[in-house]
Amino acid sequence: MKVESVRGMRDILPEEAPLWQRLEAEIRATFALYGYREIRPPLVELAALFSRGVGETTDVVHKEMYVFPDKKGLKLALRPEATASVVRAYVEHGLYAKGDLAKLYYMGPMFRYEKPQKGRQRQFHQYGVEALGSLDPALDAEVIDLASFLMERLGLRREGLLLRLNSIGCAGDRVGYREALRQHFLPRASELCADCQRRLAENPMRILDCKQPQCQPAIRSAPKSVDHLCDACRHHFQQVREHLDALALRYGLDHTLVRGFDYYTRTVFELASRELGAQDALLGGGRYDDLVELLGGPATPGVGFAGGMERLVLVLQAQRGEQTDETPELACCVVPIGDEARKKAIELLARLRRAGVSADMEYMGRSLRKAMQVAGRRARYALIVGPEELEQGQVKVKDLATGEQRLLELQEFSAAPEALRSRFPR
Ligand code: AMP
Repeated sequence: MKVESVRGMRDILPEEAPLWQRLEAEIRATFALYGYREIRPPLVELAALFSRGVGETTDVVHKEMYVFPDKKGLKLALRPEATASVVRAYVEHGLYAKGDLAKLYYMGPMFRYEKPQKGRQRQFHQYGVEALGSLDPALDAEVIDLASFLMERLGLRREGLLLRLNSIGCAGDRVGYREALRQHFLPRASELCADCQRRLAENPMRILDCKQPQCQPAIRSAPKSVDHLCDACRHHFQQVREHLDALALRYGLDHTLVRGFDYYTRTVFELASRELGAQDALLGGGRYDDLVELLGGPATPGVGFAGGMERLVLVLQAQRGEQTDETPELACCVVPIGDEARKKAIELLARLRRAGVSADMEYMGRSLRKAMQVAGRRARYALIVGPEELEQGQVKVKDLATGEQRLLELQEFSAAPEALRSRFPR
């Protein structure tokens, strides 16, 4: 029986993995620069966490969540996003008790039963930050600055990026805004798709997330959330914008940007790439000032964002074009000549690795000529271990880039690790 991978879930093969590793390392380093520390919540949570936190009527929970009972009938879910999990952990472990701002970041797989297409999968990977404990609009701007600086640091061209910004106000503002939306959409109900007709009854703000072409005219003429902000929210948004200006971060106001989760309040934003197709959002985020309390903690504001790894990989691969990395994976390939020499080669191989020289050997029973060809593809140097050289207490090192050869004394393998490493500069 041939078993294939599940639709929408993809293997990241060794050719692509180095790019992922580089991105992950740069993301971690950048988050640390801004004072974030890593948190690793589990992939499986109670389904109720997301129906409460993200919202029962959101597409992510309503249509896309992987939900299953465990052996005791407990309703579990594969996490579709991580903010709810981070906030759950924050409450469960009393991280608020220190009375300070908690700055947390995460990275890992998320699961949504969506229709797979370019840049959209059912298992995908997100990196994100959450700053919990402050209402300061400077923090909203800092989170947006972090997102934007991160994209630049990862090598995305600034001119290819688009920052979209909006404010959807506090829970109080949304009562009036929802009603305004209902009044607007009700007479246009027949123009809307079936999903939006349901949303109109359940949660009219979610209509603004709809991507169906038939709903776009009604969405474009819809009332704007910024016209329904209370004084405090309007002032907050104004200050966020002033901070963004001070940081020279350019943005466009997008009145239809409400983001797909119910927990958002006030600032919402999205960073998109002109180099991606229909799925152009690299990352998105905003404030969620009620979520901690909703999940059982003390009233605590929060702000953060999440980005998609796959989309980064797509943009960077497109920017890089066909250019591939020619650096060999290994410093050294050990090529023994004959059985006696092979024993010594195995010992030298172990010494090289312990000294921190990446090295491998031929295990496929290839001829010397073939083994040298393989070494040429995989390594910078070939360490040729032959009976004649061994008799002299030596081995031969061939620089596979220049073709130069030199002899190396066996006693060098017992020297300090740095000394041995210095014999194989890359
Ligand atoms: P969200 O959690 O929906 O706010 O999405 C945040 C970011 O995650 C998006 O901007 C995308 O970059 C990425 N993303 C969301 N859903 C998917 C998916 N199904 N496949 C790949 N990336 C995704």
